[in-house]
Amino acid sequence: MEVSVRHKLWPVLVLSAGLLAGCGTQVVNPVTGQTERTVMDEPMEIAQGRQAHEELLKADGGAYPDAKLQAYVDGVGRRLAANSHRAHLPWTFTVLDSPEVNAFALPGGYVYVTRGILAYMESEADMAGVVGHEIGHVTARHGAQRATRQQHAGLGVLAATILGAVLEGTTGIGGSTELIGQAAQGVAAGYVARYSREQELQADQLGAEYLSRNRYDPANMVNVIGVLRSQEAFAADQARARGEKPAEGSSWLASHPSNEQRLREIREHAARYAAAGGFGDDGRERFLAAIDGMRFGESPEQGLTRGQHFYHPALDFAITAPAGWRIVNAEDSLTLMQPGREAALRLLPVPAQAVVGSHDQILRQLFANLQGRITRGRINGMEATRFQGVVADRNGRQQQAEFTLVSGPKNAHYLLVVLAADASARQRHAGNLAAAEQTFRPMTAEDRQAARPWQIRVVPMPRGGFAELQRQSVVSVEQLRLLNGVYGGGREPAAGQRVKTVVAGR
Ligand SMILES: [Zn+2]
Repeated sequence: MEVSVRHKLWPVLVLSAGLLAGCGTQVVNPVTGQTERTVMDEPMEIAQGRQAHEELLKADGGAYPDAKLQAYVDGVGRRLAANSHRAHLPWTFTVLDSPEVNAFALPGGYVYVTRGILAYMESEADMAGVVGHEIGHVTARHGAQRATRQQHAGLGVLAATILGAVLEGTTGIGGSTELIGQAAQGVAAGYVARYSREQELQADQLGAEYLSRNRYDPANMVNVIGVLRSQEAFAADQARARGEKPAEGSSWLASHPSNEQRLREIREHAARYAAAGGFGDDGRERFLAAIDGMRFGESPEQGLTRGQHFYHPALDFAITAPAGWRIVNAEDSLTLMQPGREAALRLLPVPAQAVVGSHDQILRQLFANLQGRITRGRINGMEATRFQGVVADRNGRQQQAEFTLVSGPKNAHYLLVVLAADASARQRHAGNLAAAEQTFRPMTAEDRQAARPWQIRVVPMPRGGFAELQRQSVVSVEQLRLLNGVYGGGREPAAGQRVKTVVAGR
């Protein structure tokens, strides 16, 4: 149902894997000045980066459609890159339309930040810290170095690079994003290691250096780490509140050594530059103006989770999960999952080429054989054919199956499939499964109202603090504190100071 940025990268991966020939060559590392063997010289870095970049932009969930915000981020990025060790690269900086908190770079100078990570930045200098860190990965040739190592390991070269880039992080606030992140990481972890700790520390130091060269206080590098750490703490607290174990190793920070030692190192590093001269302002007002009105959370194109409800405005359907169940929005399915994972209801779109006429005809397209009970009826006015029995696929494989074929809105057809750990689990959750199925519906006027996408608004802090700010917002006090850099402590913004909130848009 949703196509996340990370998922969109798989095709890129397939396209590019194995394109590079194995002949090693020598290059001088622009940061260290040392000679290193590589399978990716600079023209190759640029060519491969550009190809992946073009694929990425073509995808939904590619560039965030706001020319002004894109120009702003690109401008800040270009100024940083112009004062870097590789000013001559064809640098481009792109905001991706993803709620995930992430940033990454491809070889050749292609740098990405998600709108998800921008929402948590407090100033232009913070953003420059993240961007500077990613520039550092490019100038120090970390992607190309990894490509060279991966080739030794006999893996596709750019494939590894891109996967690694994407693995820089993923901490979704929304539950669905979290789960997808974990799944994708599970797959990717089999292919590639992350940047090494040394590479991350080097990128941090380069980030701090590039900040100071552009008259930003390099202490913002430290600040960014703090902001992202709070983000992770918040996600962990949310998971615990749901009775789940916090995801480990899935965030931008997890791949970035985040202990006190590291913070101290960055602070010391930053202090050295501080001696070099005065810094300009942190660009907080410019930054807040640029993100005012920016979308926050899921996109309506991918479907939105609001409490127990899921809305897909583009496909015009809604469904409601039983109390306590999780909604997992993946690329090709939507799953309502019982918290103990004993049972689930999974919504699958029927491929258009299988939609050939009557429900019987569609079922014959989908399955070589069906033996069982067929019940005809309607769900919320939509034609629904229920099946319970044994199905066989074209290869003759048989399995127990229980599903309902539904003619949904916009001439799309769906299978609502019952999944259960075993027969007794199926029995225990029968009531919830049946009730959930009956909530599948074309979107109502009320649903449409609830499915308005969220956006960041910059407003003066009211006298009543976060509690009062929350009354006009769609997110919790905790999340507002997180967005404004004071989750779990920190100085409260004074009344009248401009702060970020989240409201439902039009
Ligand atoms: Zn990094």
